[in-house]
Amino acid sequence: METFKELYYREPYTRAFDATVTSCVATGGGFAIELDETAFYPTGGGQPGDRGTLAVESGKDALVAHVREAVPGEGAGEVIHLADIALPIGSRVHGELDWMWRRDNMEAHTGEHIVSGIMHALFGYNNVGFHMGDRCIEVDFDGVLTPDDAFDVERRANAAVREDVSVEVLLPSAAELAAMDYRSKKDHDGQIRVVRISGVDSCACCGTHVSSTGQVGLIKILRMITKKKRTRLELLCGRRALEACEDAMASLRETSNFLTVGDEEVPEAVRRLSAEKDDLKHQMRQAGRKQIDQYVSTLAPEGTLAVCCLPELDVEDLRYLCEQVLEHTGATVCASLSPVLGDEPRTAYVIAAQDIDLRPACKELNHELDGRGGGKPQMVQGSWTTTSDAAEAAISTVLG
Ligand SMILES: [Zn+2]
Repeated sequence: METFKELYYREPYTRAFDATVTSCVATGGGFAIELDETAFYPTGGGQPGDRGTLAVESGKDALVAHVREAVPGEGAGEVIHLADIALPIGSRVHGELDWMWRRDNMEAHTGEHIVSGIMHALFGYNNVGFHMGDRCIEVDFDGVLTPDDAFDVERRANAAVREDVSVEVLLPSAAELAAMDYRSKKDHDGQIRVVRISGVDSCACCGTHVSSTGQVGLIKILRMITKKKRTRLELLCGRRALEACEDAMASLRETSNFLTVGDEEVPEAVRRLSAEKDDLKHQMRQAGRKQIDQYVSTLAPEGTLAVCCLPELDVEDLRYLCEQVLEHTGATVCASLSPVLGDEPRTAYVIAAQDIDLRPACKELNHELDGRGGGKPQMVQGSWTTTSDAAEAAISTVLG
């Protein structure tokens, strides 16, 4: 039965310790090492296991095993250190945690309690799923939030951080537990460990936490995803939240320097730039249309089919060209083509007609010219894998 007497529970701030190797067996590409005592927290309760090193003094040289993950063994309190080399059974080891990793996880886990407690108090939503990843933590709640709600939760969570309330770990008796109001995902057997943050949250939990909310430093909600009446919050806490803010500030600074405006003027400057781009695009379109109009004014098709080919026209221009030809010349069918720049020859097309169904001809041309596209009876569009000269010849045969 779980007693919560392990070193990582008794003294969660232990970064280094000495112990004796009690077992070492080969396992999937490495070794599973057990010690008589350890500060390595084993993966569990949504929290990833610790990483670090186990060093054995052996004469002049030290054997150093790198622990990629600590995981729970079969018995209560058993911890297996998954390491890259074997260590002699019975030897004394000096263990050191990857403290940044552990500290990040302690900050993240405590931050999650704060946010979950506030969500429960404000909206009555329960934390129904929890995952601590390398990048951020994901917490799922059984209710829907608005962006303003999420912002409110984040502000309250950071207020609780500034209050620097102590994070207590309690091992209540059955009677004490019965009188306690706390969050719990499932019914546990045996001793329950309750993590209490006064005025913010009480929750059954077997993870490691910082000793006061102030040590979380900062809580940021990165993203909120709402799906099927559930909300997932992606959170960053502590050092990782600070690093994300530094990155965001660096991006903002890079953008404001590029735009030569103040940080706070960036949104307006980007809107202005986008409007200018739209305006230029419009002007270019107008200039292009003038060229098309001029081209059409010189056109004198011999029969009822006109085939036009102009460089650098997009599909809107090609459509416009067809409309102008049908309106201002004697042609009743117009095929407008434009070569597409690229490694292989390709031609974009739009074909329009006044009174025939173009779809059978379009199908035939697509087949013949290795192309794709289609449309309505009187207007089809697409592209062919061929030169515009070859396309012109094929059109004359099929539609002429
Ligand atoms: Zn916890």
